[in-house]
Formats: sequence, structure tokens, C-alpha cells
Amino acid sequence: MAGIYFHIPFCKTRCNYCDFYSTTDKNKVPELIKAELKEVDLRKNYLSNEVIETIYFGGGTPSLISPGNIEKLINTVYKNFKIDANLEITIEVNPDDINSNKIKLYNKIGVNRISVGLQSFNNEILSFINRRHDAAKSLKAIEIIKNAGYKNISVDLIYGIPNLSIKDWESTIDKTLELKIQHISAYHLSFEKGTKINSQLLKKEINQISDDESFAQYNLLCKKFKKYNFEHYEISNFSLKNFESKHNSAYWQNKKYLGIGPSAHSYDGNSRQWNVKSLNKYIESINSEKKYFLHEFLNENQKYNELILISLRTNKGLTINDLKMCFNKNIQNHFLKSVNKYLDNGKIKINNKGNYVITEKDWFISDGIISDLFITN
Ligand code: SF4
Repeated sequence: MAGIYFHIPFCKTRCNYCDFYSTTDKNKVPELIKAELKEVDLRKNYLSNEVIETIYFGGGTPSLISPGNIEKLINTVYKNFKIDANLEITIEVNPDDINSNKIKLYNKIGVNRISVGLQSFNNEILSFINRRHDAAKSLKAIEIIKNAGYKNISVDLIYGIPNLSIKDWESTIDKTLELKIQHISAYHLSFEKGTKINSQLLKKEINQISDDESFAQYNLLCKKFKKYNFEHYEISNFSLKNFESKHNSAYWQNKKYLGIGPSAHSYDGNSRQWNVKSLNKYIESINSEKKYFLHEFLNENQKYNELILISLRTNKGLTINDLKMCFNKNIQNHFLKSVNKYLDNGKIKINNKGNYVITEKDWFISDGIISDLFITN
């Protein structure tokens, strides 16, 4: 089983925290779609006959392009790959772009999961991070999506934002719970190089919230969603039973995926590929069949680091069988030796299936734990 990701690199405006590749110039939508259709054709053997179980439209803002263009991309997947009967097709949408006609068309072309970039119910916070929608638009968008019959809806939230008080955050969580949706992705703000919010921080125009405040916001998130039967199945993801994102879960299960479009990443089990992060270069290179990506084969140590990184992000954790089946004794011993101090201090536990799992409260500091388990040379 494998997944296909389409990157749609257009945004109406740029949010100040975002470092995903996108452009606000929409003139090249037709050329991009043509190039992505061609890339699917060029790379139809990349997944070596794996059955496709997920298609994901991310960005950028896929809801900015017409459902007709999304349909063309879905159709080309059907034409070139074997498809699982329970195919999950997700599209990321901005609340501002949603109307009932568009949602009905998504339904008609087979999109069965909608991921809404809601981020916050606080209008001051939304304006601070330069989102183009407000809380009222989010409520309206969810209502339209539900009225169209969607029963697999996810929303994205952000916390850890300067000036976001615990009270404001609780209010956003409570309003999100009232939506009665099935999935939530909640990310702590990170100050990425090159973003506007990072330059504001460097110029001391804004301050980061303290570690204690960040941790309190994370804890509140875990506590509230647990109370409403959401399973915290990955560091930033919560779902009702059977509503985990199949697409993202496949990344964490080390499955293969094909990324189409500028800046999209692919993985075939042995190597990674990164498409060029430029719309113009991508289109030109695809049209003239020139190289448009970088490619790297993973050595054993890199494969081990990948497995540690993806498995310890989830509540399933690392199975000792995966470690034994995939890696030699030296690598197994490296893990067993380095994990000891975390077993001793209780930050990692062995669950009843024998899997190594970082405890929920320590997921918040999991970057440090995970990198400490890596093989670095
Ligand atoms: S967060 Fe989404 S909408 Fe905002 S700039 Fe990034 S890709 Fe565009």
C-alpha cells in the first residue's frame, strides 16, 4: 500500500509563520496542472505496483484551484495506478474558500476527507498570524461541509503563539470540540528561518511565550481532547476511533509515497527525492524532461534514524520486531544501549505489546529524546 501527495503551491496571501513553498501568483495554474499530470505519467512506476490507498492534496491552498482541476489529477491516478477499494482522498481547504457548490463538487469527484485550516477561533490571533479568514468564516465553512454530508472532517490548530493566553487557547479548544468533527491536528508554532514571524522575533518586535506556558497549552490540549474520546495517536494528531489520517499514518508506518509538484517529497523504501522548490523551474523542467529533483539513497544508519523518528512520534511506538527484521546487530545494540537511560527515567516505556513508546507528556520534548537515539556518524 502507498500514498500519493499533490502539492498545489498557490496561496491568496502568505501567513507570517509558514515556510511551505507557495506563491501568490495564480497565473500558472493551468501550466502547473499540465505539468503535474505529466509528472504522474513520468513516475507511474516509482511505487513499483503498490496499491494506492490515499491521495492527499496539500499546499499551498488546494481549495484555491477549481474542483475540475482536482478531478483531472484524481483521474490520472486512477488511470496509472492500482487503487484500493477504500481509497482516502483528502483536500486541505481554507475556510475563506468554502461554498456549498465547491463542497458538492468535491463530494462528486470522490474527495472523502476535508482538512480545514482553521488555526484559531480568536480573531486577534488570526490577524496576528495573517490568516485571511476569521472565526465566523470557520464556523460557516464547517457547517457547509457537514451539510454536504461529510463525516470525515479534520481541522488544523496552532498554539504557542506570542500573546496567546491559556484562556484564549482553552476557548479555541472548546469551540473546536463543539464542532463535533472527527480529527484535529494541533501544532506548536515554530519560528522557521525566512518567515516573517521569525524576523519579527529576531528584531525583538515580539517575544516567544515561555516554556512553561507552551507546556501548559500542550497539556490542556491533551486533557481536553482525551475527555471527548479523541485518541492522541501522534505528537500533533488526535482522532476519534477509526478516523486517523490514513495518509499521514502511512508516513509514520514507513510506507512508500509519491510526491507530485514543486517541493513535493517522495520515498520508495530505499531513497528519498525532493522536487525543485520553484514553480517556474518545475514547469520548465517537466516540459523539457530535464531533471527537476534531488535524490538520495539512504544508508543503514539513515534508515534506522528514519525509523526512530517516525515510530516514536506515534502512540504505537517502535516495535522491536521492526528493529530486528530491518537492522544488523550493531544497530540493534546501539538502540538498546541508548534507550536505557530513557527507560530508567520513565520518558520511554515498553507497552503491553512490547513496543517502545515515548510517554504522552514527554512527546512535548520528544525532539531531544529522538535525536539522542540517532546514530550520528
Ligand atoms: S499556512 Fe497555508 S495558507 Fe498560509 S501561507 Fe502557508 S500554505 Fe499558504
